[in-house]
Amino acid sequence: MELLCRRICLIAFAVLLAASVVAQNSPLSERVVDYQITGDYNARTHTLDATEVLTYTNRTGTTLDKFPFHLYLNAFQPKSTWMTEAERTGQRDSEKGEPWEDKHSGSSEVKSLEIVGSGDVTKQMKFVAPDDGNTDDHTVFEIALPKPLPPGQSVQFRIHFVAKFPEVVARTGYKRDFLMAGQWFPKVGVWWNGAWNCHQFHASTEFFADFGTYDVKLTLPAKWNVGGSGVQTGAKDNGNGTQTVSFHAEDVHDFAWTADPTTKVVEDSIKLSGGTVKIRMLMQPGHMGSAGRYMDALKGTMRKFDEWIGPYPYPQITVVDPPHGGSGAGGMEYPTLITADTSWWVPKALLEPEAVVEHEFGHQYWYGMVATNEFENAWMDEGINQYTEAKIMDALYGKNTSNINSRIATIGERGTDRASYVPTADRDPLSRPAWLYVDGSSYGATTYSKTALMMLTLENLIGEKNVLHGLHVYFDRYKFKHPTPGEFTSTMNEAVGQNLDWYWKQAIYGTETLDDRILSAGSERLDWYNKADEKKGVTVYHSEVTVHRRGTFDLPVVLEAKFDDGSTVLERWDGKDRWHRFTWDSKAKLVSAEIDPDHGNLLDRDPFNNSWTEKTDRRATGKLAGYFTLLTQWMAQMLSWLA
Ligand SMILES: [Zn+2]
Repeated sequence: MELLCRRICLIAFAVLLAASVVAQNSPLSERVVDYQITGDYNARTHTLDATEVLTYTNRTGTTLDKFPFHLYLNAFQPKSTWMTEAERTGQRDSEKGEPWEDKHSGSSEVKSLEIVGSGDVTKQMKFVAPDDGNTDDHTVFEIALPKPLPPGQSVQFRIHFVAKFPEVVARTGYKRDFLMAGQWFPKVGVWWNGAWNCHQFHASTEFFADFGTYDVKLTLPAKWNVGGSGVQTGAKDNGNGTQTVSFHAEDVHDFAWTADPTTKVVEDSIKLSGGTVKIRMLMQPGHMGSAGRYMDALKGTMRKFDEWIGPYPYPQITVVDPPHGGSGAGGMEYPTLITADTSWWVPKALLEPEAVVEHEFGHQYWYGMVATNEFENAWMDEGINQYTEAKIMDALYGKNTSNINSRIATIGERGTDRASYVPTADRDPLSRPAWLYVDGSSYGATTYSKTALMMLTLENLIGEKNVLHGLHVYFDRYKFKHPTPGEFTSTMNEAVGQNLDWYWKQAIYGTETLDDRILSAGSERLDWYNKADEKKGVTVYHSEVTVHRRGTFDLPVVLEAKFDDGSTVLERWDGKDRWHRFTWDSKAKLVSAEIDPDHGNLLDRDPFNNSWTEKTDRRATGKLAGYFTLLTQWMAQMLSWLA
């Protein structure tokens, strides 16, 4: 009996073990690419000499005869498209007209390129500039295959390259000994919607890549702390002042790593619906005061995503804290690795370290797993992420206190998003490719803040639960895929059971704006010709509120009117005409009226003209408005550089 039980238990254990092994190994994504990269980092010259073996499996269903590759680090050259755009219009960490210095220089040089089985093809490499024809831009090259690659077959590229890092800019590079290595290896483009998608690196663009596996082996100075995407699988002291550290990552579409001699490692873990996730933070010694704040924000964020959107399927998340002066590396997302940002002085009232961690972790969902095209549809990663940032920061730190929470002022996420959206609301549609925006402020305000406000305003129209449910369905359907804007909107329509195309058409594809206002309001006696005195409760008044819709964005309007007998009425108007007059004949006088009384229409450019009271002190309102705008703009500026 006992033996039998033990045998059954053993069999059950074996089955369970087998099941867990299968579960760990079964791919979550299509795994189009497999990168094996071995590199030597020279900390004195900030260069990496490396060999990359890329196995690409053709899952496109069509025969491929050429391959485009990104060489992102070549953006950091004076005549590149990135540098020209940054110099002319400014960029987050490269001011307009900043003088050129050697430390700004970065490069990715392919020393040799071999197609395994077909020989060396280095001489056939051809730089291309599909976006602007700039022949001095070397951020994309193409290679024709000697033999076309049929569907289902694989091709292997062996690339010897040298990466030279710039001083931190665009979330990659060094600062003193600290290194954040992002976009550091030749990366193949994406076959998407029936064509290769491999854009040049622009001052305002991010990235787009296919899912797969990465095995990265780095040799660098001994005793330095190293962090990377995925999990560390080995570390060996070579006995000559260097160490070799290995990482493995799967079902991700990029690999970033960091190294620093002085960081302190803080480790913890969190149990979520998908299992236990290890948290590894690499902190600057002077920033240890922020470690607890990062950790609380990270855990709170991970729990909310688990609850609202879906499970985090990876075994680890790594948080990199850049050093003083290294903010160019801060506030960035890479798969299973994010960079935070703080300084030794950030007061508790300013929730910037928390917001950065929330935002970058959120990208594990909107970018990391739902891997949209960041070049062409930046709102789908940055904007949807900005919406979940507002939801989660509000849930964790309070709706009106989630950005600044001090005795003299409080501001929530909505306030800072509005401060950045309002001034540039009518310049560019969300649907515009990132490098074609009129300037950096319109790009930031539109892709990030307008999208967040579009989603928050949608909550006001169809309910918060519906919007979150729609996003959950969208995540579940498109995780480990590259959805298009149309796939997002049709999934939302389907999930909430309503055709919202009228809304998407204006909010995503248009530059329509709106400013609803009260044009006039008041009451007068219905029997105006009667010479007898007015008598409360007897005299009948005719009351009117005229609402004027400025702008061209059609959105239903709700009006709340209050009367001097204590009664309140809610009225609705479809918002299609230019103006609408609400009228009431009753024994009470109008005392106040307000459009959008729940303050849920966050796309309205000027909410200060939304209300009327019998005794409005216009000057006081104006003063308050000015103060509020100034404060929120300051906070928006502080957060606007998040990537
Ligand atoms: Zn972002």
